[in-house]
Amino acid sequence: MPIANCKRCNRIFNKGRRDICPQCVVEEDAAFRTVKAYLKDHRDATLGEVTTNTGVDVELLVDMIRNGRLLLRDNPNLTYPCERCGQPTHAGRYCPSCAAELASALSGAQEELVRKVKEAAHNDGYYSHGQ
Ligand SMILES: [Zn+2]
Ligand SMILES: [Zn+2]
Repeated sequence: MPIANCKRCNRIFNKGRRDICPQCVVEEDAAFRTVKAYLKDHRDATLGEVTTNTGVDVELLVDMIRNGRLLLRDNPNLTYPCERCGQPTHAGRYCPSCAAELASALSGAQEELVRKVKEAAHNDGYYSHGQ
């Protein structure tokens, strides 16, 4: 079993799927429940209000939002900076404009890949008839 230093508290622990130790997992779960309950009652809360009133670390809170665990559909005022441009956003790692830009860059790369695969298939004399 590989051991690692917990990303949050730096304690050494047996590394499983998470990069934080079991105790921090428990603490994070508690923080998650606290934040969720708070947001349900305070739909207009901002990031600052949530961290102040729940005592949850701002990094932890943003982490939960960025990795998609905490959804902010009902909390329009709760925003945090986009990882790419720093504009306020409230879902995922990037703001909508960066997400769109990255998606179009990605689909460009994907088209290139599809073209190459088709070329290769053509060269092999193989044609797919689909399902
Ligand atoms: Zn820990
Ligand atoms: Zn952005």
